[in-house]
Amino acid sequence: MAGRNMSFFRLIEKGDEPRRLFVGGLHGNEGLTTIKAFKALSFEDVKDGKLIIYNCDPTSYLSTLKRSYYNTRQGKEIISLIKYYRPSIYVEAHCYKNYKRLIDPDRKRKIGVPPLIELENGVLIGSVSPHIRTTFFKRADVCITLEMPCIQYKIDNKALRTYTSILKVIASIKDRPELEEKLAKKYPEQVEIARRYAIEFFGDYPPF
Ligand SMILES: [Zn+2]
Repeated sequence: MAGRNMSFFRLIEKGDEPRRLFVGGLHGNEGLTTIKAFKALSFEDVKDGKLIIYNCDPTSYLSTLKRSYYNTRQGKEIISLIKYYRPSIYVEAHCYKNYKRLIDPDRKRKIGVPPLIELENGVLIGSVSPHIRTTFFKRADVCITLEMPCIQYKIDNKALRTYTSILKVIASIKDRPELEEKLAKKYPEQVEIARRYAIEFFGDYPPF
C-alpha cells in the first residue's frame, strides 16, 4: 500500500451531542472516491455536536454483509471507532461498480438484505450491515449506507455533488425526525420505500 495512503481523519467539534461518525472506503479502493466527498465537508456544515470523519486506506475487498468483515483489521478498526465515539448518527460511505446488483428488487431473496434505494444521479441509500445495526446501535440511532459510482479520477461529477449534499444534510441534523423531515422534503417516495424495507427486514425498526 506504500504511496497509496488515503487514510484521513478529521474531528469537527462544536459540543458533545449529537455524535456523528462518517466512515468511508471500508473495503477495496472505495476510499479513493469517498475521500473526495469527505474533503468537501467543512466546519460550517456541522451545526452542533461532533462530526468524526474517517476514510480508510485501500484494503482487499470483503463485503460488509459478511460477518468476517468485522473481524478483519479494517473491520475491527471501524468497530473500535464506533465503540469509542458511540455515535447516534453513523454513516458508511461506499462506492460501487455494479449498480444493478445493489438495486435488484430480488436482493433480499438472493443475499438476505433489501435493495438500496436511488435518491438521484446514481446515489443510493440504505441501512448498514445487519451485523452491526442491531448489535452496536440503538433502535433510535441513525445508520445509513450511502453509495455512489466509484470515480477515481473525475473530479466534477453529478453523483459526487448529490452524495456530498446528502452528507452535508446528515452533518447538520441532530436526530432521526429532523433527518427524515429533510430527506422526505426532497425524496418523499424514497423515504417511504426505506420505511417499508426497514419494517420488512428488521421488524419494528425505523428506516436508515
Ligand atoms: Zn462498499
